[in-house]
Formats: sequence, C-alpha cells, structure tokens
Amino acid sequence: MARIVVIGAGMGAMACAARLAVAGHRVTVYERDETYGGAVRRFERDGFAFDTGPGLLPLPAVYRDLFLKTGKEPLEDLVELVQVDPAARHVFADGTRVDLPNASRAGVVAALDGTLGAGAGQRWGDFLVRAREAWDRTRRPLLEEPLWPNWRVLADREPYPSVPHKKLLRTRRASTLAEVGAWELRDERLQELLSSHALAYGLDARTAPASAAVLPYMEHAFGTWYVRGGMRELARAVYERCVRRRVEFVFGAEVTRVVEKDGRAAGVELADGSAVEADTVVAGVDPVLLGSLTDRALDGEGDVASGHAPSDAARFTVLLALRGAREEGAPHRTVVHSPEDQAELDFLTSPGGDLPPRPTVTVFRPGDPALRPDDAHESAVLCATVPVDGGWEDPEKVAHATELMLDAASAAIPDLRERLLWHEVVTPDRTGAVPAPSLAAGGGRFLHPANSTRLPGLYRVGGWSHPGGGLPHAGMSGALVAGLVVEGPEFRGST
Ligand SMILES: Cc1cc2nc3c(=O)[nH]c(=O)nc-3n(C[C@H](O)[C@H](O)[C@H](O)COP(=O)(O)OP(=O)(O)OC[C@H]3O[C@@H](n4cnc5c(N)ncnc54)[C@H](O)[C@@H]3O)c2cc1C
Repeated sequence: MARIVVIGAGMGAMACAARLAVAGHRVTVYERDETYGGAVRRFERDGFAFDTGPGLLPLPAVYRDLFLKTGKEPLEDLVELVQVDPAARHVFADGTRVDLPNASRAGVVAALDGTLGAGAGQRWGDFLVRAREAWDRTRRPLLEEPLWPNWRVLADREPYPSVPHKKLLRTRRASTLAEVGAWELRDERLQELLSSHALAYGLDARTAPASAAVLPYMEHAFGTWYVRGGMRELARAVYERCVRRRVEFVFGAEVTRVVEKDGRAAGVELADGSAVEADTVVAGVDPVLLGSLTDRALDGEGDVASGHAPSDAARFTVLLALRGAREEGAPHRTVVHSPEDQAELDFLTSPGGDLPPRPTVTVFRPGDPALRPDDAHESAVLCATVPVDGGWEDPEKVAHATELMLDAASAAIPDLRERLLWHEVVTPDRTGAVPAPSLAAGGGRFLHPANSTRLPGLYRVGGWSHPGGGLPHAGMSGALVAGLVVEGPEFRGST
C-alpha cells in the first residue's frame, strides 16, 4: 500500500483518487477550497440554484466506467441521468431556428433539410460520417492511452478524411475546421453550427484542426446528458464514491510545494507550513501553477509541454432568476449564434482593450424543480466563451457584456427582461481559463502535457493534462494516471 497525495479535488483528480483507493492505496486529497468538484460548482440564492460550471455531460460512458470499476453501485443508481431532447435549439445569425434531436443522425438530417433547405441535412450527415472516421482513428491512441512518447505522430497526422476541394487548377484538403465548413458544408448556417461546437470548448474554428470534427461527432453519437438536480450532483456522486473507498479529503488545505527527495516526489508542503510525506503525488492543477510548486523543470526537450501555451479561453456566465413558469416545450439548451462571428473570434484570440462584440450565447433552461423555489419561477444560465484576460476587472465592460448576453438570450427566453427578478454575473477572473480537449493534428498545439512528468513519482491529472479539458476528458485522465501509478510506465490504457 503506497501513500498517495492528490492535489485538488477537481473531477479528474477525484476520478483518479477513487481508482487508486480501490487498487489498495492510501489516498489523501488536499483541496485549497472548502468543497470538492473544482469547476463543477453551484450558486444558490432565494431558492434558486444554478450550475456555474458545465451545464451538460457528453460521453457519460466515462463516468459509468468509473463507477463500475470503483464499486458495485452503477452511476445510474446514484444520479439520475437524463438525455436532453432536443439536444439543442440553434438560432442562427439570420434568425433561422432549428431543433436538433439528441443522438439521431437521421433526425438531425431531416431537421436540417426541413429548415435550411434540401441537401443541407445530407451534407451535415455526410460530414458526421467523416467525423466518425476521425473519431475511430484517434479515440484509442489519443484519448484512451497515455500520451505517446512519439506524440509527433499524432500531432502531424490529420485523421479527418476531408473531401478534396478544387479551386482553379489546385486541389486542396481542409486543414482547419473553418475550411471543413466552407468547403464541405457550403451553407453559412451549417458553418455557424460547426463553429459553435468548437467555440463551446473554447476553440477558434479558423485555427482548430479539421480533427476538431470529433467534437460534434461525440455529441451526435453519444448524446447529451443532464444530471437531475444539477450537474453538481455528478461531483457529489464522485466525491461520495471516493469517501466510501476511504479516500481522505482535507479541505482548506493549499499545497504550496511538491517535496523532492532522492530525485523523486516525496510529498507536499501546505500553506500552514506542515509537510506530508508520500510515495506518489498526483496534481490536478494547471501546469503553470504546478511548475511553481516544484524546483525543477517537469518537462524536457521534445515534450509536449515545452512551448505549449495553456488555453486563454474562459466562460462569461450570467445566472438568471426569472418570475413565471418555463413555457411548455422550451428546449434545455438554445445556442443563439453571434451576428459578428469573426469579431467574436478576433476578440477571443486577441482581446485587446476593446468592448466585446455580441457573443454566441448558450442558454441553459434545465426545467428542473430542484433549481427553482417553486413552479411559478425558473432559473436559467447564459454562457459565452470569452478570453480569460478580456479586461473583466472593468465594471463597465462587464455590464456591457452582460447586456449583450441578455439581448441575445431574449431570442431563447420569451419576455426575458420583464420576467427578470435578478441576475448574478460570474466573470472569467472567478473561474479561470477552461482547457479544451486534446485534438490530433495542428502540429501538436492542441495536445496537453503527458500525465507522467520528468520527476519520478509526480503525475498530472485533470483538464490541464492529457487528454485535455471537459468532464469526460478529465475523467479519462483519472483512469490513465491510476493505470500509470498502479501498473507503471508500461501501462498502455485499459482494454
Ligand atoms: C464556467 C465553466 C464552464 C464549463 N463548461 C464546460 C462544458 O460545457 N463542457 C465541459 O466538458 N467542460 C466544461 N468546463 C470544464 C470542466 O468543468 C473541467 O474541465 C472539468 O470539471 C475538469 O476539471 P479538472 O479535473 O481539471 O479540475 P478543476 O475543476 O480545474 O479543479 C482543480 C481543483 O484544484 C484545486 N487547487 C488548485 N490549486 C491548488 C493547490 N495549490 N492546492 C490545493 N488545491 C488546489 C482548485 O481549488 C480546484 O478545486 C467548464 C468549466 C467552467 C469553469
């Protein structure tokens, strides 16, 4: 039995802790805040409750697997998973609206054909078939295995089988997601749809590799799920599973240093000056912070981390307390596309000092009785992808962005302004940057640092490490790190 210290109680770290405890190790999690779940937070006031982190769960299989491997009770016995249908309503910049059914390719094709004109659905459907090929080619090596030492193979090879595009005498193949949209979808609304899938993960379709096609594919193939009672319920279930497996949690305990002894990680120091010895340290925090906790470089020449920029994309969130009941048939999620999509992406990638343009706003209306005081009220969450350093310390800018979000959300919530009791803004400086999932191709710019580090006994877990951010990906990183700790560097992913 090894003594294992885990830094942070985020979803990736807890997923790892539960697996390590089941493997027979003594695991203690040190979390600087007073609660578990990291970004998966809840805000409550006057009987209203809101998820301030992710609003939906893609790829629930990752958490099903976690609960299966760490105990007898399956995930479905501990939380109520609901498939969201329609998966989303899209309100495009030209005002066209379409409801896309959940996890039904035929249904999506029919809905798009019916709204955008014959042929549009088929083009999207054909795109999804190609996206599936990219998924099949990358799922195992990229997501379900520790980062390959020869990761350049993943970085240089584009797995998306783009359609040859003839222009004048040249034949080209799409290398970015925006090119896939322009050359293969050939409809502005379909391009907005494609781009919004990337943006939801903090990515700019103009620079994201074509392999980002796996993001809409994941949603269409595996569905979009909500956890009844709010997404925070998933964090609670993972935390409780950890506790049942005798993982110890110490809250209000900030780790200030990773202690090194005889060339390997040997424990941590805490902000109160105390030290904790350990055989292994697992860090579920961002790489910049982790770098500051150690005295040596954790990555060497040729590792992904060297020269790899952490994500600058964050979320601007507005929580709405509304009087009046949610109308019958209102979708759980509506994406209101930006009329200034290029300006939005410019702001995301080079924020400068200007006011933000009208962003693409995702409106979550869960219609969950647990999140409202009574049936005569509704809680809703508005979310936009923005740069983390967008000047959010300026109250005028925050107020302006909030107004833009409310304007956009009026297309999703009838009589929004009249119904609004109060709102609460959660700015990016409170939640920090949000890492995107790892993607193949793009020269390695969309990969994350390996779970193993150059300091033996120190591992990275969670959204800032391989295979990247988002609930499922962080959960996968938990499985990979547990495998590496238990089976050693030869571990090649579970079968
Ligand atoms: C507003 C918002 C919206 C999001 N929307 C989506 C979405 O739609 N879809 C999606 O898939 N994902 C989304 N995400 C991302 C997703 O929530 C995370 O990728 C996922 O929860 C994985 O988190 P993690 O494991 O990296 O840990 P994190 O959530 O980053 O948690 C890290 C934990 O470590 C603790 N910590 C940090 N430093 C120390 C220290 N020195 N000592 C002790 N503890 C420390 C922190 O307090 C925190 O609890 C969103 C995130 C945010 C913030």
